[in-house]
Amino acid sequence: MEISYVSKIVLFKPFLDEEGLLRVGGRLQFFNLGYEQEQPVLLPTRDNFTELVVWKSHERTDHAGLSETLSELRDRFFVLKSRQRVKSLISKCNLCKRFRTKPSILDMAYLPPDRIRETFSFVVTGLDYLVPLYYVEKSESRKSYILPFICAVTRAVHLELSTYMSAPSFIRSFKKFVIRRGLCKTVYSDNSRAFLKMKKEFYVLGSDS
Ligand SMILES: [Zn+2]
Repeated sequence: MEISYVSKIVLFKPFLDEEGLLRVGGRLQFFNLGYEQEQPVLLPTRDNFTELVVWKSHERTDHAGLSETLSELRDRFFVLKSRQRVKSLISKCNLCKRFRTKPSILDMAYLPPDRIRETFSFVVTGLDYLVPLYYVEKSESRKSYILPFICAVTRAVHLELSTYMSAPSFIRSFKKFVIRRGLCKTVYSDNSRAFLKMKKEFYVLGSDS
């Protein structure tokens, strides 16, 4: 096989083996490395087969970095401009991208004035029912609700147990909370029926005074 003296591969003294594969001649025949490593298969930089071989080597290293993939590749193959080619290919690896991605920094909004204004505990309070608790009483299955009152400023928590989610039951729980912790100035809640009923009653109380 004649190779032009201006060819890029002439320096590697390539030769065709018995199977017709182009291998690197080199000077390592007496280095005791093994045939595959002493005279690896010579592959072009840009070729579909080269690409497949690089991906296989990258997978064999369990998606390790550039050096590990190159080392695995060079055990059997000699790819022209291999560092550049391997670097370009593994930069497209989706699995590696997932591990390389840095967590995004959450841009937190400013806290509302009710959360930071200095005041007594539970003056500004948030509330909502938790999921029901099931229990057995006299062989009958029953359920109760926990109603947490959370201070917006100190994040202190006051819990009330409520048998029903109805408006009268909620008003009873709220009264017990007020007796223990004092009157609230602002109450935040979702607009559930029980809470809206209580809001109406407060308006009635306000109009009486
Ligand atoms: Zn990868």
